[in-house]
Amino acid sequence: MKELSVFQKSMTALLPETELRLDEPMAAHTSLRIGGGAEVMAFPKSNGELAQLLKVSALLGVKPVILGAGTNVLAPDEGMEGLVICLKDCFGGIDPLDTMDIRCGAGVTMSRLAVYAAGLGLSGLEFAHGIPGTVGGGVYMNAGAYGGELGTVCLGAEVMDSSGKVTYWDRERLRFSYRHSALQETDGILLSADFALRRDDPEAIRARMKALMEKRTASQPLTLPSAGSAFKRPQGGYAAALIDQAGLRGFRVGNAAISEKHAGFAVNLGGATAGEMKALLTAVSDRVYENSGIRLEPEIRIW
Ligand SMILES: Cc1cc2nc3c(=O)[nH]c(=O)nc-3n(C[C@H](O)[C@H](O)[C@H](O)COP(=O)(O)OP(=O)(O)OC[C@H]3O[C@@H](n4cnc5c(N)ncnc54)[C@H](O)[C@@H]3O)c2cc1C
Repeated sequence: MKELSVFQKSMTALLPETELRLDEPMAAHTSLRIGGGAEVMAFPKSNGELAQLLKVSALLGVKPVILGAGTNVLAPDEGMEGLVICLKDCFGGIDPLDTMDIRCGAGVTMSRLAVYAAGLGLSGLEFAHGIPGTVGGGVYMNAGAYGGELGTVCLGAEVMDSSGKVTYWDRERLRFSYRHSALQETDGILLSADFALRRDDPEAIRARMKALMEKRTASQPLTLPSAGSAFKRPQGGYAAALIDQAGLRGFRVGNAAISEKHAGFAVNLGGATAGEMKALLTAVSDRVYENSGIRLEPEIRIW
């Protein structure tokens, strides 16, 4: 049996109450199904437990990395040293704030939030129904689809800083723009977010959600592991169209490939490595640049 590292021994000794998994495969926590073991993966269940984790890891000189549902992350083959804090399913809870606003925990999936809102007859999150990440990852990325973005309905969020202090960030401070929020420039951890919605007939909301889901299923390679759109939308074009025009539909590096069904998606055909996926993204970006003069930037967060 592999001997535990000093960090693993210290964490388990100092945090006996917290759910910690050692050498936990990142591939099991990312939608690309890629990534070696995380030295320590923690699953805190409360603000207090999360603050304690931050305190102990700072004491041990380790900067943690935050993981939601792992649907926008490419994790390294060699695994991750240090601490990964997984919030999916940990920071749950959805509560109405008043008749039209909702507070939602960071670990809740966007799909669950959209279904909950529809049940209350609250419209504004239909677009988020098919986005597989958590609310934490969604606000961090300003996730969006079919003309909607979380940033347009998000009122503000509770954020914990690295010292464990919680403050409320209003939407001005969150500075949403295309696939961006101000969280990306800090080490703040989103605990919950508030959404301002509007009244509508629950059946009409559900019908819109169903129609968008059908559109998604028809156009996206949902049966293969991916992280959604591999590249951000460039100025003056669409990544998928540019990739297609460069003749790269189906292009492969090992078992990482541009989807035959949707050229904007990079998929894992089975057993792809992070190295292959990174090489694929680089080659596609270079070939699109040669073909169109437009440089594609990955939307996937490469760890
Ligand atoms: C099939 C498929 C379809 C997709 N379709 C869309 C789409 O239509 N539109 C779209 O925008 N995206 C789409 N995505 C991408 C992805 O779902 C979104 O980017 C989503 O917002 C990521 O959420 P997550 O919880 O999985 O975050 P993760 O992938 O776990 O993390 C993404 C980033 O957010 C950070 N993060 C996560 N949680 C927190 C938190 N609580 N506090 C601070 N930082 C945090 C992480 O550190 C990381 O940098 C798709 C992905 C897949 C696999």
